[in-house]
Amino acid sequence: MAPKKREMRKRKTEDASDPGQSGDTLGKETKREELRRRDLSECSKYIGAHVGIQGGIWKAVDACIAIGGSSFALFLGSQRSWTRSALDTNAADKFQEQCSLHKFAPAHILPHGSYLMNCGSPKEDVFQKSQALLVDELSRCSRLGLTLYNFHPGSSLGTITTEECMVKIATAINHAHQQTPSVVTVLENMSGQGSTVGGKFSELKAIIDKVRDQGRIRVCLDTCHAFAAGYDLSAEGGVKAMLDEFDQQVGLQYLKAIHLNDSKGKLGCNLDRHEDIGKGHIGISAFRDIVNEPRLDNIPLILETPGRPGFEYAEQIELLYSLLTRTNKCSHMTCTSSRHTI
Ligand SMILES: [Zn+2]
Ligand SMILES: [Zn+2]
Repeated sequence: MAPKKREMRKRKTEDASDPGQSGDTLGKETKREELRRRDLSECSKYIGAHVGIQGGIWKAVDACIAIGGSSFALFLGSQRSWTRSALDTNAADKFQEQCSLHKFAPAHILPHGSYLMNCGSPKEDVFQKSQALLVDELSRCSRLGLTLYNFHPGSSLGTITTEECMVKIATAINHAHQQTPSVVTVLENMSGQGSTVGGKFSELKAIIDKVRDQGRIRVCLDTCHAFAAGYDLSAEGGVKAMLDEFDQQVGLQYLKAIHLNDSKGKLGCNLDRHEDIGKGHIGISAFRDIVNEPRLDNIPLILETPGRPGFEYAEQIELLYSLLTRTNKCSHMTCTSSRHTI
């Protein structure tokens, strides 16, 4: 639930200070934009964050640039309402213009589905509303020129079996695929909190197997959720071990994104509590391994951390890029990006 909280807090910060008035801030932002552009041409790691859409969906692009991100996530509308007014065509055009102007490719933008949705709900009315919202959100992605859409699989609420819940989730996905053009639905792994489905890689695989259009189903791995579900990223070689296991159970070709979050909770706690990078039980070594992992090249690596004052998204993105080592920093062995300090 971190992105929502973050957006609310961030909005307050933005209201309180006008970045346009500060030369220092402007200089910093220009430097970040330079770094980001260099990164786009030279580096294969696309680190970014979940950004707000206050004031218009196209503002997400500026918000990403302001924090030096190379990729971003965003909500497609209010998290409070099942129904939304139609997407404003001017806003959609502006969003697409901003993305192409600043060279954000659709593969590096990962919209996050509404938290209201539960496509695995045993309650028929909630299932129907979730299915309709999934169709609506996929249509919006399509209108925004986006190709990926990330969402939480669903929860059985403890009143149906995991298998029955997974059948419902796949039914909603198949329905949405029929109703909309080519946007790819990206399942997120869960922490195993409550009766949510998708904490185990085998559950993600079981849902994927029920989806008819295999070209339109992929996975986003959240590091906090994986750790809380029992995958020990904090151990030496933990990141590689998790990716190996994912490859065996699901297949790395299905991996389209990573949510970069440390965990407030301990290994296997099943709690969905995000922590700032290096400040939780996962620890900084795992994130060093992640940014230096060639199997995670060219996909969005998105922060959804609390972002304490002085260690907000911009600082965490900077930290993560500073962890890149010369041999692993990118797929181009001749890379000279100034972000790579070793
Ligand atoms: Zn999520
Ligand atoms: Zn979470």
